[in-house]
Amino acid sequence: MTTTSLATSHPGISGIPTGLLIGGDWRDAMDGRVFDVENPATGEVLAAVADGGPADADDALAAAVAAQGSWARTAPRYRSEILRRAYDAVMTRQDWLAEVMTLEMGKPLQEARGEVAYAAEFLRWFSEEAVRISGDHTTTGDGANRIIVTREPVGPCVLITPWNFPLAMGTRKIAPAVAAGCTMVLKPAPQTPLTSLALAAILQESGLPEGVLNVVNTTDAATVVQRWMRSGRARKISFTGSTGVGKVLLRQAADTVMRSSMELGGNAPFIVCADADIDTAVEGAMAAKMRNMGEACTAANRMYVHRSIAGEFSQRLAARMAELRVGNGLDDGTQVGPLIDAAARSKVQRLVDDCLSRGATALTGGRLPDGPGYFYSPTVLADVSPDSELMTTEVFGPVAPVIPFTDEDEVVAHANDTDWGLVGYVFTQDIDRAFDLSERLEVGMVGVNTGVVSNPAAPFGGVKQSGLGREGGKVGIDEFLEYKYLAVPRRGPR
Ligand code: NAP
Repeated sequence: MTTTSLATSHPGISGIPTGLLIGGDWRDAMDGRVFDVENPATGEVLAAVADGGPADADDALAAAVAAQGSWARTAPRYRSEILRRAYDAVMTRQDWLAEVMTLEMGKPLQEARGEVAYAAEFLRWFSEEAVRISGDHTTTGDGANRIIVTREPVGPCVLITPWNFPLAMGTRKIAPAVAAGCTMVLKPAPQTPLTSLALAAILQESGLPEGVLNVVNTTDAATVVQRWMRSGRARKISFTGSTGVGKVLLRQAADTVMRSSMELGGNAPFIVCADADIDTAVEGAMAAKMRNMGEACTAANRMYVHRSIAGEFSQRLAARMAELRVGNGLDDGTQVGPLIDAAARSKVQRLVDDCLSRGATALTGGRLPDGPGYFYSPTVLADVSPDSELMTTEVFGPVAPVIPFTDEDEVVAHANDTDWGLVGYVFTQDIDRAFDLSERLEVGMVGVNTGVVSNPAAPFGGVKQSGLGREGGKVGIDEFLEYKYLAVPRRGPR
């Protein structure tokens, strides 16, 4: 087995396989290429991992196709128990996996531990769902036929994941695919391959048969993934990432009519009504904005606050944001880590500068801290103009723009004036207002007096250009299942 090829000052990652996982074997890329994984807090190279190319992509898909038939026929309980063992194994190694994630993508250790628990829960949830796949049995209206409806795995799946929640975005796809009886080819984000490789090794150790999960890391996503999309043998694409790449993949999926699940970008409105409890709203804003340094699809990016409390809310939020300790995620007490790379940080700075040039005020932050690493100071902007670029661009950083509003029709119109529709947040103490605003928001999820919506037991996903389908909850497994209907004539007089 190929394991991390670069000795680093972090022995924790030294046992992780760094090859491609194809048909149960860990191997080097066909042309021997590797790419470096960097720690965004320090710029240090952590490891070199195999850089898969088109021939590796073909082999990985061939392994998934070969394993599909026998895997589909396994007992649900067998698949369930593999997932349950993987859940236990992930939780046993919670601290280790958290450190790997912090090293390669920067989030503070405490948050990384939280992500490990969240990610593991998808393994446990779908271990429970694997044995609950059910069908239907009815009779045709004229009584002539039985209608027997069964569920079957959709077939080999292409899974593509982003770097921001490298473990959870993996388990949110892999666990339902395993539960349903699908085989997979996985292409993780190149910034965070080690977390995905560690997860694959844990699944292997938990008894996942060879060929069921194949992993190809690559620096040439477009070529590798296109091989799979054009093959006609992969039957489903499940993608989490930006809306732009999602559209490219949907066009490719059309050519072979692949089932498609898309978890795409967002630009969440966060609405604080005049009657909201301000303490609750500030806590909610901290959670919805600062999770993962703001690098989350669920991040509250447009804070609409009733004019009567906008000043107080902004000041209190700014005070909380200013207290946050920014630093290397491995250091004790760090609450905000670095952004993923230099380009991400430049984009945040450009969007903030645009707001400031249009009359906004930075109550805290608004600048690049000194020193190495891709850090950005937690920022609260007051009096942001609605025509700022920040209103229509997913900032993916620790920036909270506050826009005062006067009436509910106005705020609903602003909140919905976007192509995205992933999540919205509503803060009010009036239950009727909470339901009314929730129903009027064009989103797939609403946090009512809370800044956290993600939960493995809930259907996660968006409307409009935020995606297609849902992950998690009772419906999460449906994305990996097809219906089959058997028509069976009935005998005898009717
Ligand atoms: P991204 O640039 O779209 O990349 C996502 C994945 O797609 C990466 O593995 C990437 O690999 C791959 N990719 C890029 N171009 C591709 C192509 N032509 N064909 C096949 N694969 C391709 O997104 P990101 O910057 O990593 O992640 C941030 C985005 O994800 C944000 O928009 C965020 O809102 C969204 N997100 C959504 C959810 C959700 O559940 N709705 C959750 C998390 C994140 P390369 O990097 O090698 O190109």
